Amino acid sequence: MARYTGPVCRLCRRERMKLFLKGDRCFKEKCAIERRAYPPGQHGQRRGRRTMGYGLQLREKQKVKRIYGLQERQFRTYFKKADQRKGITGENLLVSLESRLDNVVYNLGFGASRAQARQFVRHGHILVDGKKTSIPSYSVSPEQEITVREKSRKNDFIRASVETARGRGIPEWLDLDAENFAGKVLRIPTREDIKIPIQEQLIVELYSR
Ligand code: SF4
Repeated sequence: MARYTGPVCRLCRRERMKLFLKGDRCFKEKCAIERRAYPPGQHGQRRGRRTMGYGLQLREKQKVKRIYGLQERQFRTYFKKADQRKGITGENLLVSLESRLDNVVYNLGFGASRAQARQFVRHGHILVDGKKTSIPSYSVSPEQEITVREKSRKNDFIRASVETARGRGIPEWLDLDAENFAGKVLRIPTREDIKIPIQEQLIVELYSR
C-alpha cells in the first residue's frame, strides 16, 4: 500500500501542531514546529482565511491519520467499525486507534516514534503473550503482555528508545518493566487517556456529510 515517505516535519507544520512523528527530536528545540510554526511552502507565511466548516473537519481527520500513520482506506475502515459499535463514534475511533499494537509499542517506549514501532513489529522484534506478532494493526486486550524478543534486546535502536522514553512517562493504562523490556496492558484506554488535542466530533461530522 502506498505510504508517505516525504519529510514528516512538513506534516506537523501543515497541521500547525506537533504530531510527534520523529522520535527524540520532537522533544527538542530542533523540532520544526518550535522554529517555524507556519505551514510549509511558498505561501506558508501568508495570512490566510480562517479555516472553517469542511476545511476544519478535513484538517482534524488528516491530523489523526498522520499521527497514527494510516492511509485513507484504513482510516475509513476504522471509522466504519467505530460507527457500528455501541457508544460515541468519535471516542470509539480514537480508542481503537490507540489500542493498535504499534501504538502500544511506541507508548511503552520500545520505539522512538510510531513509525519505528511499526517497523519493529513488522520485523518480528515484538511478542504478544510470548508469541511473535508482526501485524502493526493488531488490537491489544487487557492483561496481554507485550515484550521485546530476547534476541532483539541488544538492538541499539530499541535500547536507545527505551532509554529516552524513560523521561517521557507511559500512559496509565499500560505498565512497563523497562529492565526486562516488558509491558502489560492493564485495561483498554478511555478517551481521557488519549492526550492528543483532537476534536474527534469534527471527523464524525466529515464522514456524515
Ligand atoms: Fe513534528 Fe517531531 Fe518534526 Fe517537531 S520534530 S515537526 S513534532 S515530526
